[in-house]
Amino acid sequence: MSPTPSERTPSERTSEERGRTTRGVFGSGLAKGLAVTLRTMTRRSVTEHYPDVQPDLPPRTRGVIGLFEENCTVCMLCARECPDWCIYIDSHKETVPPAAPGGRERSRNVLDRFAIDFALCMYCGICIEVCPFDALFWSPEFEYAETDIRELTHERDKLREWMWTVPEPPGLDERAEEAKELAAARKAADKAAQTAEAERLAAHREQPPQETAPAHESPSSQEAASGESAPGGAATGESASGEPAPGGSLPGGSTPGAARDEDRRDGDA
Ligand code: SF4
Ligand code: SF4
Repeated sequence: MSPTPSERTPSERTSEERGRTTRGVFGSGLAKGLAVTLRTMTRRSVTEHYPDVQPDLPPRTRGVIGLFEENCTVCMLCARECPDWCIYIDSHKETVPPAAPGGRERSRNVLDRFAIDFALCMYCGICIEVCPFDALFWSPEFEYAETDIRELTHERDKLREWMWTVPEPPGLDERAEEAKELAAARKAADKAAQTAEAERLAAHREQPPQETAPAHESPSSQEAASGESAPGGAATGESASGEPAPGGSLPGGSTPGAARDEDRRDGDA
């Protein structure tokens, strides 16, 4: 006895039977479509009108790779680890003179070319992870589409421009251990401040004590005692009539003692 249609497996069923089961009730597909339309027509649209409206991307979006070339030592680690081999680096060696007389000359690598082919890059971030000198960073910049695929190889100048769009690193946790670099810088600053303060105190101690007038003698009484103040209290070296005062300083900056000496010399001559 042959199995009934319901006992047969889907592959054993005839095409006519399969059509009967999938076709369903007439007009049910139309009703489903209308239901979806009705459900979504009252929801807010999620379409972004780029480029008229810029998309609101998270600040740490992996848009493109920026290069901080001052940190790059041309160690080639990023180029070796890149799975797509899309990082191109050229460099040459330079001899650096010794830092101190009698020292040894050193050689260092100088970067000539650093380029990334973004047509090949798969944005895995391995190059950024492996760079031991923090020379590569993710930038959220994403508007670098080109009409020619060959123009997607970007050189160091462009990679450096993107570096300035890299967001600031997040701050440390309040209870986190102080970064080693910051601790070393703070210690050095404290030490320099202590040394400067000690030098200032030592210089202050070595200064000879300055002669100071007794507190009960005012400058006018000192002048009166030495006979240099003008009669009537004029301290400018002139009397009230405008004549040079007997005890005051003379016009031209000469003192009464010097004038007397000159008179004596004239008399001797
Ligand atoms: S992100 Fe990945 S694929 Fe792109 S350059 Fe870096 S290592 Fe290569
Ligand atoms: S790993 Fe970093 S330091 Fe080394 S070549 Fe690449 S970018 Fe430069």
